[in-house]
Amino acid sequence: MLPHWKANQFLAPALGEPYLLTPGPLTTDYAVKQAMLRDWGSWDGDFRAMTAEMRERLLRVAGDDKHEFDCVPIQGSGSFAVEAMLGTFLPKDSKILVLMNGAYGQRIVQTLNYLGRAHSKIDKGDYLPPRADEVAQALDADPAITHVIVVHCETSSGILNPVAEISEIVYAKGRKLLVDSMSAFGAVDLSVNKIRYEAMVSSANKCIEGVPGFGFVIARKSVLEAAKGNCHSLSLDIYEQWATMNKTGQWRYTPPTHVVAAFLVALRMHEAEGGAEGRLARYTNNRDVMVEGMRQLGFETLLRDRWLSPIIVTFFNPAHPKFEFSRFYDLMKAKGFIIYPGKLTVVDSFRVGCIGRMDANIMRQVVAAAADSLTEMGVDTAAPPAAALDERAKLAA
Ligand SMILES: *Cc1c(COP(=O)(O)O)cnc(C)c1O
Repeated sequence: MLPHWKANQFLAPALGEPYLLTPGPLTTDYAVKQAMLRDWGSWDGDFRAMTAEMRERLLRVAGDDKHEFDCVPIQGSGSFAVEAMLGTFLPKDSKILVLMNGAYGQRIVQTLNYLGRAHSKIDKGDYLPPRADEVAQALDADPAITHVIVVHCETSSGILNPVAEISEIVYAKGRKLLVDSMSAFGAVDLSVNKIRYEAMVSSANKCIEGVPGFGFVIARKSVLEAAKGNCHSLSLDIYEQWATMNKTGQWRYTPPTHVVAAFLVALRMHEAEGGAEGRLARYTNNRDVMVEGMRQLGFETLLRDRWLSPIIVTFFNPAHPKFEFSRFYDLMKAKGFIIYPGKLTVVDSFRVGCIGRMDANIMRQVVAAAADSLTEMGVDTAAPPAAALDERAKLAA
């Protein structure tokens, strides 16, 4: 039996446990943690039923009304699932165009180098979005390109890339789209009947609010069927995992049973909250309350509002000489909030996540904690250096 829980209760974490304002691992509900307090036999019918329910629920979140897609979970962190998707769905003679604007796009290129798959890239730097016209140009210029991959929310800056616009141009040009929707799926719409793609990947510890331990691929069944024999890796072969799971109801190799049990509770909570729509509403509110409060303290966001995701927000470090990020981090942690260092190359920044078991009340406390931390450091305004604002001015509106 999985634990019972009440919908939309935001229980404080256990005594002494900080809120994780990080985009996975993130703060989970007490009932999600509680689901891990028993052991499951991986072969047993009860666990096989849990795996089946999980796959079915994920397909529902993906809006697969016509049953054209299937869901294949795979052990490991999100990067394992990305590697599995690339290795399984890219035939050895394919060529993929990578739309890069941050660390996760870079990781995809690194993975393709390991896999020995031909690729080219459009690199937009730290935080500019790839747009349809430049994708069209790149595809026209190179007929060898068979696939395109885009990162849905590039978690390193928090930018929400225009996936719908990119999908349209990719298929208009007769190519195929793969999506890394790791940090967006379950909150930002990626319904298969609205946005066309061959396969997407996400993981347990992002917007569904489970704990880390596996990722999952949602792919067109025809694409799964055609993928036999593509993969370089035995354990990362999505086709083989799919075929075995459909035949036996089991995972190939030991599944993360406790993580799956926790994830199932998280999925039921996701549904009770109104699915992706309900979750998006809460995360958007979290972001708006937090960003408005931080701006009142003088902080500035890296991105203009048009590109801000409801997942995670990057702020410039204040210019004030007494501001020091590691001190700020420690002061925030002492108040119960773990924030995230920035990942930009040009200017210093930090990030605050909006996802996880938190609501606007918590976000107000985050802002209050930031205000107190600044005061303790002797920083009277959080305004960024002029160079940071110059950098932002390069962003097209
Ligand atoms: C979290 C994340 C990943 C996977 O990272 P892991 O650390 O391997 O879980 C991949 N892409 C994006 C966009 C992510 O946010």
